[in-house]
Parts: sequence; C-alpha cells; structure tokens
Amino acid sequence: MKIEKVFENNQTWIAEKLAIDENYFTNLAKGQSPEFLYIGCSDSRVTAEDIMGVQPGDVFVHRNIANLVNNVDLSVMSVLNYAVRHLKVNHVVVCGHYNCGGVKAAMQPIDLGILNPWLRNIRDVYRWHKDELNAIEDLDARYNRLVELNVEEQVTNLIKTAAVQEAYRDRGLRVHGWVFDIASGKLIDLKIDFEKKLKEIMEIYNLSDSPM
Ligand SMILES: [Zn+2]
Repeated sequence: MKIEKVFENNQTWIAEKLAIDENYFTNLAKGQSPEFLYIGCSDSRVTAEDIMGVQPGDVFVHRNIANLVNNVDLSVMSVLNYAVRHLKVNHVVVCGHYNCGGVKAAMQPIDLGILNPWLRNIRDVYRWHKDELNAIEDLDARYNRLVELNVEEQVTNLIKTAAVQEAYRDRGLRVHGWVFDIASGKLIDLKIDFEKKLKEIMEIYNLSDSPM
C-alpha cells in the first residue's frame, strides 16, 4: 500500500463517520471514558478495535511485543495507572495470540540483542511450566500453549499491582486473559478465575493498604 493511500483512506473514513453523525468528531474531541484497557501484542494482524468490534473511545490500548506486563516497564505501568486510576476502566484485558512471533523468538536458542531481556520474561514462563510444555510433542501446539500460559502470567502480573488491587476493592474492576486465534479470527476467553488468582496473589503481594 502506498503512503498516499493512507491519507485518501482517512478522507473516506471522515466522510463515512460524518454521514452517520455530523457531530461525530466534535463529540469525540470532548473526552474519553473507555470501559476497557486492552494490552495486546504489536503484531500487525492483531488490531484491538477490529477484533473486538469497537469504536474510537471504547478501549484504551497498549501494545508491545508478546503482550508483556513487566513490573519495571515504565510504559506499560504508566498506561495501566492512567487507565485504571484516572480513566477508571472497569476491565483490563491481556490479549495474546497464536502464531506470536515474540513467543516463538523466545524459544530460539540465539542471541537476539536488545530483545534478550524482553523475551527473558517469556523464557521464564516456559521455565515455570517446563514439564507441561515439554510433554507436548507438536512444536506448534507447544508454542500455542506457551502463548496461553504467557497471557495467564501477565494477568498475574497485573494483579500484583496496587492500581488493580485498589480498583478491585473500590469498584470491582476485573482482569481478563484472552487469546486471538489468527487462523480462525476467533477471540478466546481463557476464563481465568480472577478472584481465585487475586486471593492467591494477595497473600504475598497485597499493596491495597498502601497510602497511595
Ligand atoms: Zn505477537
């Protein structure tokens, strides 16, 4: 696709929106109050709004390689804090996807430079679930299972944060783990038991009484 086409598309999109609602953009400019924070992979095939069928203003989005929620990543932590504490989203979603290049890269025994410390997070997930994963002989199936386990681990990482714990206590915010199956287009809810996980996590990571 040529770069000029992008601006043509933009004009078409504006016209389509205005045809339905002449105040569409003036209303959009007034502010946002999204119900969801979506944390997904940067993969070009996994576009949050498209797979969820939502519009601008509905979802606050953060994307990085392999949808990681790392405690010392200032970017994801800033997004989380802003979305949960200021925008007051009620649902936080981690959405992984099958055929994830980031997850596959983490399984390659090679030096990937600056990606090494990033992908280390996924290698750790593999190590914690080594027995289950190594028992899966089909390599693609093993990668796919690691995609699911990685999502679950990032959900756990979210629950470890003060922002999520406080928002759960104050207004019942929930965290969800999903996987997008690129080959079918299907969005799969991993049905992670949020309250059970929260209870386990709070035993050690309880931050909800902090003065913040
Ligand atoms: Zn990916």
